[in-house]
Amino acid sequence: MSEPLPQHLGHGIHTIPAPLPFPSPRWVNVYVIERPDGLTMIDCGVDWEPGRDALLKGFALLGLDPGSVDTLVVSHLHPDHVGMAPRLVAEWGCQVVMHRRAATLYERYNDTAGFERWLFDLARRHGVPPEFQDQIGSIGPRPDFMPPIGPPDLVVDDGDHIDLGGGRSLEVLHTPGHEPSHICLRDSLTGILFSGDHVLGRITPVIMYDAATDDALGDYLAALRRLLAAEIGLTYPAHGRIVERGSARVSQILLHHERRLAGMEEVVRLGPATAWRVMGQVFRPHLSAMEKRLALRETVAHLEHLRILTRLASFEEDEVVWYRVP
Ligand SMILES: [Zn+2]
Repeated sequence: MSEPLPQHLGHGIHTIPAPLPFPSPRWVNVYVIERPDGLTMIDCGVDWEPGRDALLKGFALLGLDPGSVDTLVVSHLHPDHVGMAPRLVAEWGCQVVMHRRAATLYERYNDTAGFERWLFDLARRHGVPPEFQDQIGSIGPRPDFMPPIGPPDLVVDDGDHIDLGGGRSLEVLHTPGHEPSHICLRDSLTGILFSGDHVLGRITPVIMYDAATDDALGDYLAALRRLLAAEIGLTYPAHGRIVERGSARVSQILLHHERRLAGMEEVVRLGPATAWRVMGQVFRPHLSAMEKRLALRETVAHLEHLRILTRLASFEEDEVVWYRVP
């Protein structure tokens, strides 16, 4: 995919793609909305030079003054969305707006060592053989592009409206699943949905088992169904291209998870299995360490959802969790 360019999207909405230091996704779409008295920005990318350059060049190209950004709304607590926030607060003096859950979860975002311990524990509990535990658990030193963040200056709840002036606002939809504090924002003027990572055009966001919720996948599917009921049209995602028919894409993502759930259930029908074993049957082989880590968390999220639905049951043996048919 060729490098996307900063664009005016109409109705005072602009997008600036900021490059990311990952193989995928390679950009995050930063959105800037003009208000009568300033600019509101949605997400900001990681804190590295190519991202900072892209933002500043994008503002210049679009004829916008970065100094007018007084509000940064962050869709969720992942570095490609919140990473640059401390710098923008320091340099531009903007306030950071996030969902209420981010007010406590930001401490976890800052705790690299704690996350690593949790991953090792997850690997052991879910049957990862000792020779692979390091690949799942070792995440290495904290990258410079994700400096520690502070709590949000302003917290919002589901149903709140973030004022854009002139009678226009962004309605907050709490859409946990990809991350517990995830929000989507619906523009009252155009009905456009800023979907963060909740709804993406060509990839399905990874839904990871998370200590902060019993059922990350259940949360995610419920939030998708709510969007379906709200009849979403034009959708501006945080990665990739604009989605014209949001509801149609939501239906596809729901189907993807239905299939994946059925696939995992089928593996367990053949005999009790750990998440590690199910993962080996459902995901393609030769995953990188990072892909293995995500695949394991995604597998546990699906198996736990099946257990909560009582489509599966689980038992423990030597502190390892096994799934079986009920
Ligand atoms: Zn993202």
